Parts: sequence; C-alpha cells; structure tokens
Amino acid sequence: MLLEGHLVESGEPARLVIAGSTVQQVEQVENGPDVWIAPGLIDIQVNGYGGHDVNVEGVTPADIIELTHALWRKGVTAFCPTIITQSEAYIGHCLRTIVAARDSDPLIAHAIPAIHVEGPYISAEDGPRGAHLLEHIRPPSIAEYQRWQAVAGGRVGIITLAPEHAGSNEYIRTVAADGILVSIGHTAATGEQIRTAVEAGARLSTHLGNGAHARIARHPNYIWDQLAEDRLSASFICDGHHLPPSVMKTMLRAKGCERSVLISDSVAIAGLAAGIYETPVGGKVELLPNGRLNLYGTPYLAGSSSSLPECIAQVVRHTDATLAQAVMMASTQPAKLLGLERGTTQKGASADLTLFTYDETTGSIVIQATVVRGEMVYQRPS
Ligand SMILES: [Zn+2]
Repeated sequence: MLLEGHLVESGEPARLVIAGSTVQQVEQVENGPDVWIAPGLIDIQVNGYGGHDVNVEGVTPADIIELTHALWRKGVTAFCPTIITQSEAYIGHCLRTIVAARDSDPLIAHAIPAIHVEGPYISAEDGPRGAHLLEHIRPPSIAEYQRWQAVAGGRVGIITLAPEHAGSNEYIRTVAADGILVSIGHTAATGEQIRTAVEAGARLSTHLGNGAHARIARHPNYIWDQLAEDRLSASFICDGHHLPPSVMKTMLRAKGCERSVLISDSVAIAGLAAGIYETPVGGKVELLPNGRLNLYGTPYLAGSSSSLPECIAQVVRHTDATLAQAVMMASTQPAKLLGLERGTTQKGASADLTLFTYDETTGSIVIQATVVRGEMVYQRPS
C-alpha cells in the first residue's frame, strides 16, 4: 500500500510504502496531496462512543468490536476501554468481555493494547467523585487487582485511583512493578499524598482539572500540586466544555507537550445526533447541538461527547500548541506512556496511521483514512 500526503510531524510531502504491518519506506516527494499523515491516534480513556457502551450492564464482545470500528471511523487507531467504579463482579464481567473481543480478532487485539480501570479506589467526596457510584468506592486491594488480571489475562494496563486511601502507596508500588500505568484522579489528596504516590510509582494525572471540587482553596491545592509535579504526565479533556479555553491553554503550557496527553473520555452518546437520551447510569441527559452533554435540565456535564480529533482541533484553536504538537499529544505521548512501539510515521514503525484534512478557516479535522497495523480499516467515501 502507498500513502501520499504531508507528514504532520515535519510538514514535508512524502510517500509511505506500507508492507505487511509496518512502514517499510518513507520517500521524499516534490508534492503531496493536501492531506496530513499522522501517527495513529491513541485514546487512553474511552467509556463508549457511537451508542456503544463499555460500562453497560451485560456488555457483549460485539459491543466492544462495534465500538472499535466506530472509533476507527474517527481516526482513532487504538484505545483503552475504560471501566468505571462498580462492584468487583461487574468489573469482572466488563474485563472478560473486552478480553473476548480481543481474542476474536488480532486487529481488535492490536487496537485495544490495554484496559483502563478508573476507580473504584477513588475519593468518596462529592466533586472529586464525579458521577462514580458512591456505594462501590473502596480502598485499594492488591488481592482484587490480582483477580482482575486473572480475569483480564493481564490486560489491565492503566489504573486511576485517589492516593489518599490507606494502603495506596503499597498498592501503587506493587502494580507499578507489574508495569501498570498508575494515574492519580478523582482525588482530594494533599500535596504530601501526591508526592508519596509519585515516589511509589504513579506517572500520570487523569483528566487534570476535572473530577474535582467545584470550589477549592486557591493554593495550595491538588490541581497545582499535580501540575507542578514534573514526574507526572497529565491527561486532559480538551473538548471545549470540560476545561475553559484559558485553563486549557495555561495547563498545557505548564505541563508542556512532552507531558500532556489528550483524551476524549467519551461516553456512549458521543457521536450520536443532538437530542435527549435515557442512560442506564446517568439518567436523562441532553446532547446539545454544540456538542455539550448535560444532565437533562441542568448546566452540569454528564460526560464527554467529543472524539479525539475534535479535541485536537480545540487545542489548536485555543492554545499555542501547533497542529503537529496537538497530534503528538494524542498519539506519540500516549504510546510512550503505554510503552507501545507506535506513535511515529518513521521507517520500521508499525503502520498505525491517521490521515486527515485540516480546515484552517473552520478549525476542523476531517478523517480521510485510518490504517491499523498495515490494514486500511476506514476510508472516507469520496
Ligand atoms: Zn473520570
């Protein structure tokens, strides 16, 4: 397969020769079509998309496979299905289902490099808890982690927790030694608790600036403490609703491109038409024409309804990051954090690629093609 366009990393026109599952050659050309060739987008936090829900009761492998295809159509080559706070039996069912979907098709397995468990070891306080169910929040348990991995065949790769729970540091040390990416989130931790969690092995902050109290002390607080901690990368929901533009701009500038990861944190309603929906967990919600998803009749967010390319476009619009940097935060950086040999278009890399056009006047991204491990899994109808 030959792909022509401009490499987003360098801006140079190029022709990529794809052989099997890898980029065999990157050839310089005089002119290329007006399409960007980017490393495949990787979304490390996805609850659902296009009507498919990772956390719905009785989720099936077909749901996970359809979700993967829906994300491919949005240029997302790989993602971490994200299981939120629930009973151990419920989490176990979700884990088993994702593993069954992976086992059904090597390409699906490649597209789901790891599972993200967000909770249940998070803060019980209103605000940091977000929409997670209070009744299932509990302190971290290494025994439960081992049972998760037994069910998941070792595929749990990210765990988001609040380090103020007793026993957190021992838990973090244990799972980090297993290669787990431990992320601090839905937390009300003190600066000292954040510092010791980092020393135990936490490497990321989950959707920094969200999953927090509506009002906190101006300083010190857990947002500044995580923002200033250079040993922590941070994920951000840059959908234009979760973080106001000024916050998005200053937080990304403070963390820097090298430590920032864009996530959609999308829910099942994302990608559907505007309207009012009944959801199994959140009750009645309204998806507004501008993409904001509210609890029906309130100004409160009920989750994120954007996909990763829309977040990239928001970053370019509202911050001083370039298109190349914004794409890097949604491909190269998550690949590095997960230890994946992806996130580049260089010779020899796995051919996971996202081809898109970017309209500077409207600031919008249109996905033209998605390539996963050398296979064209989506091509925009011409
Ligand atoms: Zn969350």
